[in-house]
Amino acid sequence: MALIVQKYGGTSVANPDRIRNVAKRVARHCAKGDQIVVVVSAMSGETNRLVSLANEMTKNPNPRELDVIVSTGEQVTIGMMSLALIELGLKAKSYTGAQVKILTNEAHGKARIIGIDEDSIKKDLDDGYVIVVAGFQGCDAQGNITTLGRGGSDITGVALAAALNADECQIYTDVDGVYTTDPRVVPEARRLHKITFEEMLELASQGSKVLQTRSVEFAGKYKVKLRVLSSFEDEGEGTLITFEEDSKDENMEEPLISGIAFNLDEAKVTVLGVPDTPGIASQILSPIAEANIDVDMIIQNQGADGTTDFTFTVHKNEMEIALNIIREKVQPNIHAREIKGDDNIAKVSVVGVGMRSHVGIANQMFRTLSEEGINIQMISTSEIKVAVVVEEKYMELAVRVLHKAFELETV
Ligand code: ASP
Ligand code: MG
Repeated sequence: MALIVQKYGGTSVANPDRIRNVAKRVARHCAKGDQIVVVVSAMSGETNRLVSLANEMTKNPNPRELDVIVSTGEQVTIGMMSLALIELGLKAKSYTGAQVKILTNEAHGKARIIGIDEDSIKKDLDDGYVIVVAGFQGCDAQGNITTLGRGGSDITGVALAAALNADECQIYTDVDGVYTTDPRVVPEARRLHKITFEEMLELASQGSKVLQTRSVEFAGKYKVKLRVLSSFEDEGEGTLITFEEDSKDENMEEPLISGIAFNLDEAKVTVLGVPDTPGIASQILSPIAEANIDVDMIIQNQGADGTTDFTFTVHKNEMEIALNIIREKVQPNIHAREIKGDDNIAKVSVVGVGMRSHVGIANQMFRTLSEEGINIQMISTSEIKVAVVVEEKYMELAVRVLHKAFELETV
């Protein structure tokens, strides 16, 4: 007998028919003898509707009251799901986050889970109930309702799986797994049977939006076995997210590259002709950090004439703010020759734990891009990733040729 946490996203519970279909799937698992905890999101579009509703009352809703409002979306779904399960002859019982007691800090709208009281859920499971828990919500020590941030139901699922020591946490969504890259860009993209946590984190933070990044980090930390599956297909094993040490298959050569990620959200800020002296990088980046602007890639070269060029990337939305900070707060001290921004860029990354034991991946990537005449503007690497910045218009071409060069379309 296995204990499985199944999380269903908004599209999977978008209407009573879909909720009924989910209930049937849960019933099939129960028939096999498994114990099931179901975590649900609000019906699709519902959280947005509730946020707009609050905004009709005031432009600046009080965070505690906003959480009271937006948390109701999930409360409707748990009741509906329990009704559907009961209709099928199962014993089912719904829990809001506060009823479970998913204890969080007080940060309304982006609360972090501190602890979960799993006792009553365990007792109900042993009494034969299917437990249906509202995603995305908890309560603070004073009993105030809190929410975990948009997309937060994934975290509820993973956190419950950790607290209950579940055998697996299954995330059901509208895609049937994690792909080698976005199939809309490369139709030959292939579903991965498994992927390691580190790879998933790279792909998730690079913009493959299958799983919320925070929930992947959480699962990695608590060693929760995660699987992404489609709620619209009856069978299918989805993609298992594994730990590297568990996933070694002795008879098989592991793939070098697992996936290609791309991201159009970044912009480049370049500071040209600054003195090549100690402290310049810190002078440029400190005021950026103070303004809470996230910096991704950073490049600096050693110049020959005593000056150097310094380039970094930020989110597109923050490029103008970053440029103003450099012009107003930094330029008077560093006297750069020129300061410029460019938001016409794309980042393309190849990701794979296989890189750890192979040399030449970066070179193969650069050669492939050069054969297409694509100029590389910036490069950054980690143990399991090589990322390049190219002109935005080459993004799709770059992803396609790299997908082919690394033979990702073949199993
Ligand atoms: N309903 C919430 C949202 O739309 C949480 C979730 O779906 O994960 O962000
Ligand atoms: Mg979601």
